Amino acid sequence: MISVTIKTGVLVIGGGITGAGILWDLALRGIDAVLIEQKEPAYGATGRCHGLLHGGCRYLVKDSAVAAECYRENKILQSVAKGAIENTGGYFVQVKGDDPGYVEQWLNLAGKTGIPVKEIDIQTAIKEEPLLAVQNIERVFTVPDAAVDPFDLTLMNLTGATQRGAKVFTNTRVEELIITGNQIRGAVVKDLASGESYSIHADIVVNAAGAWAASIAAKAGIRLNMKYGKGTLVVFAQRLTKRVINRLRKPGDGDIIVPAKSVCLLGTTDIPVSSPDDLDPTAAEITKMLNIGEEMFDHLSEKRILRTFAGIRPLYTGDNNNGEQNREISRGFAVINHEKDAVDGFYSIVGGKLTTYRLMAEQLVDVVAEKLGVKNPCQTAETVLPQPVAGQVKLAVEEPMLCECEQVTVQDLERACELPFCRDLHTIRKITRLGLGPCQGTFCIWRAVMLLYENQRISAAECRQLLQEFLAERGKGSCFTLWGDQLKQYELARGIYLNNFQLGDAADEI
Ligand SMILES: Cc1cc2nc3c(=O)[nH]c(=O)nc-3n(C[C@H](O)[C@H](O)[C@H](O)COP(=O)(O)OP(=O)(O)OC[C@H]3O[C@@H](n4cnc5c(N)ncnc54)[C@H](O)[C@@H]3O)c2cc1C
Repeated sequence: MISVTIKTGVLVIGGGITGAGILWDLALRGIDAVLIEQKEPAYGATGRCHGLLHGGCRYLVKDSAVAAECYRENKILQSVAKGAIENTGGYFVQVKGDDPGYVEQWLNLAGKTGIPVKEIDIQTAIKEEPLLAVQNIERVFTVPDAAVDPFDLTLMNLTGATQRGAKVFTNTRVEELIITGNQIRGAVVKDLASGESYSIHADIVVNAAGAWAASIAAKAGIRLNMKYGKGTLVVFAQRLTKRVINRLRKPGDGDIIVPAKSVCLLGTTDIPVSSPDDLDPTAAEITKMLNIGEEMFDHLSEKRILRTFAGIRPLYTGDNNNGEQNREISRGFAVINHEKDAVDGFYSIVGGKLTTYRLMAEQLVDVVAEKLGVKNPCQTAETVLPQPVAGQVKLAVEEPMLCECEQVTVQDLERACELPFCRDLHTIRKITRLGLGPCQGTFCIWRAVMLLYENQRISAAECRQLLQEFLAERGKGSCFTLWGDQLKQYELARGIYLNNFQLGDAADEI
């Protein structure tokens, strides 16, 4: 039997950056809201993206309106979400063989759109970024790109919203939508830890489920035309560049490198897949990206690679699905009022970018607020988000360290556990960056799990399960990049986990 346990104004489905941004906007306007996420925050595309806060230049030629949107949002986020952003700046680099006609068109559109782009001489660029392949570089331009930590950004939005009274339920899946007549009434959800199902009654339901949005809409009998583009990324063990570096040509595979805290990411591919759960990188994708990367960066393939991962782009094709290739589909977004599908009070938000999430949330909440008769205007462009909870670089610490690579202390772990939406090791990892550095959890994950056990947050059986889950996940990402120093690291980790914890099967996967 299903019991009614919660009533709210707005139910938001999806704890990626879009859902988190919507919750923060609703909370600032004083609208009562609950967010449901089936796994941990940023489980979907948000936690699997490149972390490039676009200055807009990548989209200039394909869609200059999206480019201008990215530039405006980039500037806003640099003032309200400083804690998640590193203002690295960026280069766009024309490599021998790249179309000079494209470069001229790009420059012309940058001028028209007002995005500041400046050519610099090649020697200056090489001095700043010694990895650039000097013999291949033709022209270099500075652009207003930056690096953003998608975990921090999502968690900062959720923290701000919960501090203002919003509620977040993670590891909880929306199973059914409750509709009477043509009016949405809420949803039936299932707590995946306890197995308990309950209903949440709401005046409005917002579908912010990213690549899963079509499956949520289908629960109301509504068809959303979506395509899924799998993008694989390669994580290097160190920062190889100071800036975001893009290839200056029609967007393609493996043409961007983004520094991200202690590592950097090369990406990405764009492969059509039929399901949002098709998340496995392939060896062919990695080889292809490294080969392309070598045209812009010297000896890239010899650098130590930590792992790879893939995410799914939620691409909305609209009502006219005219067979465009994934890279041709706009990175713009759509707010859909399903009154047009005879379901009142139900809205979907699809497409878009991490960079434009705040604007997406603003436009969605404008529509919802009007429906609810709330007059309070959007405040997310002026209100500074709370700082990230943990994982900040520390120059001197007295506290015992859990993770030396990422400077995560025992107190960081404890602070993370206090957050209302932190229910598992995946969330702790995203809050603190535990296990994300060069040793990939060899020394820190078991220490963290033991500490959780000592503090009576988990049982002995859960300890083992958590270690196994973590190692299995790491194993998936490591298997195509095990050579050189990373292979030695892998063998060391295997030794530690096999000998100390008898985790034979899981350790074989790392
Ligand atoms: C490889 C790759 C690289 C990218 N790089 C960049 C970049 O550098 N810069 C940029 O600006 N953008 C980038 N993007 C785009 C960006 O990541 C996405 O546009 C953005 O993260 C989408 O966020 P979202 O919240 O809409 O979706 P998601 O992050 O996918 O969130 C949807 C959430 O809904 C949850 N959910 C689904 N079904 C249910 C259910 N039944 N019940 C409860 N919860 C449910 C999922 O678990 C998921 O957490 C990239 C995308 C990819 C794939």
